[in-house]
Amino acid sequence: MSDAVAMTCQTLDMTALPASTVTDQATDGLHEPCVLLKLGEIVLKGRNRQQFERLLQNNIRLALAGVVTGVRLWQRDGVIVLTPQLESAATPGAAEAAADLIAERMRDVMGVVRVCRAVRVAKDPDAAIEAAVALARGRQGSFGVRAKRRDKRFHVSSADLAAAIGSRIQREQGNAVNLRDPDFVVHVEVDQSEIFVYTDGMPGQGGLPVSMSGRGLVLMSGGIDSPVAAYRMMRRGLYCGFLHFSGMPLTGPESVYKAYALVRQLDRFQHGSRLYVVAFGRAQQRLAASGSGRLQIVAQRRLMLKTAQAIARRARASALITGDSLGQVSSQTLTNITALDEAVSLPILRPLIGLDKTEIMAEARRIATLSLSQLPDQDCCSLLLPRQVETRARIADLHKIEARLDADDLADELAAAAQEYRLGRSA
Ligand code: ATP
Ligand code: MG
Repeated sequence: MSDAVAMTCQTLDMTALPASTVTDQATDGLHEPCVLLKLGEIVLKGRNRQQFERLLQNNIRLALAGVVTGVRLWQRDGVIVLTPQLESAATPGAAEAAADLIAERMRDVMGVVRVCRAVRVAKDPDAAIEAAVALARGRQGSFGVRAKRRDKRFHVSSADLAAAIGSRIQREQGNAVNLRDPDFVVHVEVDQSEIFVYTDGMPGQGGLPVSMSGRGLVLMSGGIDSPVAAYRMMRRGLYCGFLHFSGMPLTGPESVYKAYALVRQLDRFQHGSRLYVVAFGRAQQRLAASGSGRLQIVAQRRLMLKTAQAIARRARASALITGDSLGQVSSQTLTNITALDEAVSLPILRPLIGLDKTEIMAEARRIATLSLSQLPDQDCCSLLLPRQVETRARIADLHKIEARLDADDLADELAAAAQEYRLGRSA
């Protein structure tokens, strides 16, 4: 079993409590609301596992800061246990409510596969049976019991424990047992110092803890795709910064408000996000004046990427992320994507490249960004549109346009003038 972990921060007191110091004696009469987090891929990471666990614990702390004031955290094999620590004068039911709140917040923490609101009871079969019966009370339909032991030396086998709980619930409540497809499941997990009992559990985000894979910078348009792209890369462990190009001063600031609202929505997955905003209107005008013609869109996108690369240096990001999806619009043909890649040396990650718009929209709905993206605004890309758009941009032609207006210097200037917003805690 891994060590208990000490975590402290100003608003959160996550005290360390090595499980070995909690004796069976100490848990006598125990009935404590808690949250069990099931970890997925993170447990497969071999030697780096401890580092990943520490990162996840830190992300948990950030997700709870200012939400619940005292939380105790234990790291177990493939499981993290969180228990609210309230003052002794707390009102009845306060610990349950705090555990509910912790469970809700944990559903947005990347790297957690399942969130289970549980009760922690003494390491005693009778205590487990009583807790299981109480949880099943009032539940309709068939049920199954799944028991497992993280402490294999426990004197009752998993099968015996499950059978004892099953027959008590059946006898007292009359629910039918259905092991194949039950309406609800009672889970019992015997640990080193206690037993956890819970019903069902809720899906978490899965993926890897944010920051595990480093940092990326998302080009965030205010449309439907880029927030989904950001979400997907956060889920693969990238901590994301966000960069929005507005058409200002040729447009109003509406697109900036939208980008900010979207970043706020995504901030619940990583906390403390930064949004960089570049007023792009004049640069677009200069591109058009330099005779970009049918190449205006691709030239604009290359200038965006060059600017993004300059800001990425500042934000310590080692990849750019876009919401491109192959063939969705003219700048997303294979030839044009190749021309975009050539503009910068940083890798451009395009997690939506093979998705249909309907699939992207379904995910946007699920992560609650769709309705924000659908608010009206004037996207800078809709300014100065040529009558015909080049779908097979030649890189040599783009270089000529860029040489005329010193595109690299212009990108540096735009990056230097970017406004930076830091999001506070989204309560
Ligand atoms: P969405 O706007 O949601 O990304 P889209 O279909 O409008 O989708 P495009 O306008 O071609 O796609 O843009 C493709 C990608 O380029 C966007 O996903 C985004 O990453 C980037 N991008 C486009 N416009 C902007 C902008 N104004 N600011 C920042 N990034 C942008
Ligand atoms: Mg767009």
